[in-house]
Amino acid sequence: MARYTGSVCRLCRREGAKLFLKGSRCYTKKCAFERRPTPPGQHGVRRRKVGEFGLQLREKQKVRRVYSVLERQFKNYFDAASARPGMTGENLLRLLELRLDNVVYRMGFATSRAQARQFVGHGHFAVNGRPANIPSFQLKPGDQVEVRPSRTSRDPFKTAKETLKSHQGPEWLSVDAAKLAGTVTEIPRRDQMPLDLNEQLVVEYYSR
Ligand code: SF4
Repeated sequence: MARYTGSVCRLCRREGAKLFLKGSRCYTKKCAFERRPTPPGQHGVRRRKVGEFGLQLREKQKVRRVYSVLERQFKNYFDAASARPGMTGENLLRLLELRLDNVVYRMGFATSRAQARQFVGHGHFAVNGRPANIPSFQLKPGDQVEVRPSRTSRDPFKTAKETLKSHQGPEWLSVDAAKLAGTVTEIPRRDQMPLDLNEQLVVEYYSR
């Protein structure tokens, strides 16, 4: 399972936006983007003109980095999104939102997608009663995600029943804190995916 292992704060600085890749640290003064909002590297502070292609490229990279998906897999998502009826950009975001690691994060079991991915990879979750350890597993409406009973006493989930009570998840998910479980109730609409992303630029990038 290939994944990016470099500095994630560097990615926020490159994209010129907070991508919230580090969990609770992103909400503190320690956030690297708050301290140094310039692009990384020796010449990061230089002003550069960004053309149309540059904008499209940056937005594509931003979406990819928010969901921690590598280039080839991201292109596969794009191809799958364009083969579906409807708006390709929205389809793309939907496919990414319905990944198991993202749903675990959105439900409040993890503080970042990276942590959710690790939890899933370690086999802490089950989907519809069956163990699931593939972060990219695609969920659909009606699917139930739960912490496996044998894992509920493990460190990450000891206090989850309390923290989940105050967690505000998106409308397309319902969470039962007492059972450490949640359900995908519907396919997310664009307005239910509160993302500061311009998916149309991603479509334009791949349509060149
Ligand atoms: Fe980005 Fe979070 Fe690092 Fe801030 S702390 S730069 S939001 S990953």
